[in-house]
Amino acid sequence: MKKPRVVILGSGYAGILTTVRLQRLLHRHEAEIVLVNKHNYHYMTTWLHETAAGTGDDNIITIDIDSVFDTNRVRFIKDTVVDIQKDAQLVILENGDPLAYDYLVVGLGYEPATYGIPGIAEYSHTIRSINSAREIRTIIENRFAEYAMRKDHPERLIFVVGGAGFTGIEFVGELAERIPQLCTRFGIHPDQVRLLNVEGAPSILAGFDESIATYTQSSLEQMGVEFRLSTKIKSVGPEHVTLLSERGEETLAAMVIWTGGIQGNTVVCDTVFEADRGRIPADEFLRIPGYTNAFVIGDCSSFLNKKTGRPYPPTAQIAILQSKTCADNVAALVQGKRTLKPFDPFMKGAVTSIGKHDAAGVVFGIKLKGKLAVFMKALIDVRYLWMLGGLKLVFTKGKIAEFLAS
Ligand code: FAD
Ligand code: NAD
Repeated sequence: MKKPRVVILGSGYAGILTTVRLQRLLHRHEAEIVLVNKHNYHYMTTWLHETAAGTGDDNIITIDIDSVFDTNRVRFIKDTVVDIQKDAQLVILENGDPLAYDYLVVGLGYEPATYGIPGIAEYSHTIRSINSAREIRTIIENRFAEYAMRKDHPERLIFVVGGAGFTGIEFVGELAERIPQLCTRFGIHPDQVRLLNVEGAPSILAGFDESIATYTQSSLEQMGVEFRLSTKIKSVGPEHVTLLSERGEETLAAMVIWTGGIQGNTVVCDTVFEADRGRIPADEFLRIPGYTNAFVIGDCSSFLNKKTGRPYPPTAQIAILQSKTCADNVAALVQGKRTLKPFDPFMKGAVTSIGKHDAAGVVFGIKLKGKLAVFMKALIDVRYLWMLGGLKLVFTKGKIAEFLAS
């Protein structure tokens, strides 16, 4: 009898851990496991703000997909998913032949949400992949180089980060640490550079612990970040941004990095499968409603938190937890079991970095600030690397030297 084929789309946090677990749960004769990803490496999405600011190490953020699996057990296809034919159960790839599946796991991650704000898509820069992060780093460096060279340069070199959610906050922290280095390198006085974080809500990290948000804001202000709260990015042009607040409109000549929110990958969300506010709602077993053999996890999915009546925020933490339930449920179906496990996440909390030397957050209900929070953030990364590839990954990618130096 032909083995059923399990196809996993995307090797981000959700897809790669599902594949690792399925490799353990299913015997070779039970199923063929196929992982599709557009690159032959997995990257630590949670470190992309460092790459974008130019404070990250390019050698450790990527992990070769081949190094994580037994390549005799998992077939990896490096290709880009362009469509899914649901009725025919086929994944359409950019380069290869259509790929048939018996079971499907969709883990294609996120895209920046632009909310139709004029110019965001065309002129702002977004931290959406390793390549976009590297592009931001290069453009920032070029801005410094051009500013230093031009005699008729404007009074200030301005960087505007749109959105003070976790991504915006972590990015400004890294950039605030990088700016003095760039000033030295290009001979620019630090007073000539401005780093603004613009947030539509009245506070940063909206909805998070207030005292942690206050601590984070004041730490960043000491590092030179200017906050514009209750202020929205109204539009972005090729060389400027218009802000809107109660005080009215203000236009600044600036480079804009947009961190104003995310949605699920539009290759699947609202194109192949119906989405709600940009993400595909998963049922209690993480299946796509209406499909008994298709699952959705990670940033493409939306899973209702029954206690709050709102979906869980799209985080690596949720993606990691979902990967376990999803792999268990796919394995159960392949093995002909009738009972599936409901997804019931236990959320541990969140920690934001504030550059390399400071951090803040709440873990297991305990508030952490400063070095303890830096340690906790490093521990979270180490735990993930351990789950993915054991001690070898912890030592090669675990930023241990960086942590000891911080
Ligand atoms: P991703 O990690 O985005 O992976 C999607 C994968 O699919 C990628 O490998 C991509 O290359 C691939 N792919 C995309 N499109 C295609 C296609 N068409 N064909 C083939 N392959 C494709 N969360 C936390 O919990 N803690 C943190 O500290 C944290 N820090 C963050 C810092 C930053 C700067 C950012 C941007 C996010 C952070 N997050 C954090 C959120 C977290 O990174 C995401 O929730 C998580 O990456 C979601 O995992 P995923 O597997 O769904 O998607
Ligand atoms: P987000 O949706 O959490 O935050 C976006 C912010 O942009 C919001 O505060 C919103 O009010 C603001 N905004 C939206 N439109 C605006 C406008 N026109 N002008 C000014 N501000 C505007 O998005 P994110 O920060 O990219 O985070 C995405 C997900 O990733 C979240 O679930 C987050 O928790 C997670 N994440 C977690 C960590 C961590 O745990 N350390 C780090 C990064 C991201």
